Amino acid sequence: GSLPGRERVGALVLDAYERAKAATGGTVAGYIPALAGADPELFGVSVAGVDGRVHAAGDAAVPFTIQSVSKAFVYALVCEALGHRAVAERVGVDNTGLAFDSVIAIELNGGSPMNPMVNAGAIATTALVPGSGPAGRWEAIRAGLSAFAGRPLALDEEVYDSEAATNRRNQAIARLLQSHGRLDADPPAAVDLYTRQCALLVSARDLAVMGATLADGGTNPVTGRRVVSPEVCRDTLAVLAANGMYQRSGEWLFEIGLPAKSGVSGGIVAVAPGKGAIGTFAPRLDAAGNSVRGRHAVAHLSRTLGLNLFASR
Ligand code: GLU
Repeated sequence: GSLPGRERVGALVLDAYERAKAATGGTVAGYIPALAGADPELFGVSVAGVDGRVHAAGDAAVPFTIQSVSKAFVYALVCEALGHRAVAERVGVDNTGLAFDSVIAIELNGGSPMNPMVNAGAIATTALVPGSGPAGRWEAIRAGLSAFAGRPLALDEEVYDSEAATNRRNQAIARLLQSHGRLDADPPAAVDLYTRQCALLVSARDLAVMGATLADGGTNPVTGRRVVSPEVCRDTLAVLAANGMYQRSGEWLFEIGLPAKSGVSGGIVAVAPGKGAIGTFAPRLDAAGNSVRGRHAVAHLSRTLGLNLFASR
């Protein structure tokens, strides 16, 4: 079935927002200087249905940089361009059990980037984006993520500059992948493109619409435009279920039962295939890097909207 009726979903979104707002644990990510100053109290929740209806509560229109949530959508775009097999063989699909920026995970696995939701795999995926020259590849990513959101997304220059000046660990990861013959681009160019994709500005509402596009077999339910194929959506959601919430992906699936992706700026997108998606934004993170209020809100909505994929009733 689909989501409940308009009024019921609206009331449940508000309810999830009010309850999750009470959660004050976690800390704002500090390792990217321009993110450290984020207002820790910001909190927005949005739900978008495959029928194109969008609900929102709190700071759901406030822009923030998409960060790692971009990994899900760039992966989908690359799968669309290169096909299921090619990307899976090159990047992998299995969880590392380690932090998102782990170098050890690469070494322990013979140089494999492991999966497209950790930094190594995301940089390897971004290195596969087709396009003519750095500008063409960047335009492909910007236009592709904008098609998922249903509106043109802009780059936050300050966050991009801040991260580009400090991302030595990602530079090292790209070099390490190259040394193993596992990077299909010049390392600095791949990291630059990846850093740009992470600095695109979205809102919680945008994340809900982007997720609803994956829930809807690749057609944006608001614009009606096809972005990727249903097969690519299926592949992307499987990868999110296994890896989207960092090394807490198993626990997230166990508690909440939805494929999801989080990012260090505090965004989460959670997708209910065939039904719709939840987008949240709240900058305080738990130890694994997942938004504390976002997690509470998604857990509540998964329960009250009956979205858990593993529940038979
Ligand atoms: N741009 C961030 C990084 O590469 C994204 C990390 C994240 O959101 O998990 O460190």
